[in-house]
Amino acid sequence: MERGIHMTRVAMKEMLQDASRRGYAVPCFNAINLDMIRGIIQAAEEEQSPVILCHAEIHFKYTPLEIIAPIMVEAMERATVPVSILLDHGKSFSAVTKAMHLGFNAIMFDGSEYEYEENVLRTSEVVKMAKTLGVSVEGELGYVTRPKSGGAEGEDDDSIIDDTSLYTDPKQAREFVERTGIDALAAAFGTVHGVYLKKPKLDLSRLEQIRNSAGVPVVMHGGSGLSVEDFNNTIEKGVAKINYYTGMALKVMDQAKTRLVREEESTFYHEFMMDAIQDFKEDASQIMRTFRSNHKA
Ligand SMILES: [Zn+2]
Repeated sequence: MERGIHMTRVAMKEMLQDASRRGYAVPCFNAINLDMIRGIIQAAEEEQSPVILCHAEIHFKYTPLEIIAPIMVEAMERATVPVSILLDHGKSFSAVTKAMHLGFNAIMFDGSEYEYEENVLRTSEVVKMAKTLGVSVEGELGYVTRPKSGGAEGEDDDSIIDDTSLYTDPKQAREFVERTGIDALAAAFGTVHGVYLKKPKLDLSRLEQIRNSAGVPVVMHGGSGLSVEDFNNTIEKGVAKINYYTGMALKVMDQAKTRLVREEESTFYHEFMMDAIQDFKEDASQIMRTFRSNHKA
């Protein structure tokens, strides 16, 4: 069946509300090239899962936003399942406005490095702009660390992953949501960006308090390296969107290495590419089943 333009473009706000209501999490994948985009969309269509494709400001050095945005918009509009496209960890107003003009329908604005009042001020400015265009906004309160050794472009000292003072304060969460007008809240309760340097220890009771007081769906960053049990627990406590990238990037590369070592004859780049798309698709499918977003489209 041919679907009309915009039919599968779904506001992230509505997607996350549905996930909260029905007890699953929408997977949000960083997709920095065409192979990732194709693999993830194929997985979403096969699993009948809603999905969020995102591009992070720290990844602009690999793929400029202007180049990937039209591809993401096209992928969103051709998909047979609900897709949303999000600017991930937008920090500069230029990236935020550019993403909105290029057709992104969701912005994750990351003001977590600023002190509280400055974070409120900057996030509110983004919400004001976004609302006029019908764009959903995710803000961050507290700080999900990005340690230097984690392979996620981080500058943070490895030791701060244990610093619970960086976790989201549930009471402040309510005020932050009310003052900024955000649609979703990225919260810090023990997850880490990139590869986990030690076994993750999640503060689930804090997560539950954040969820109860925030009044909007809660987002978990740092999904790579958590166990299925961790995912089940966090979804049960109300996480409605989970960001995931590092695990996929490492796993697909490992599979490619194994395959290339085995090849006796020369391999064409397009063969490598098609195998990579298949690998991205398989990993994304598995994530969708783990997040229970399959059959929810
Ligand atoms: Zn993140």
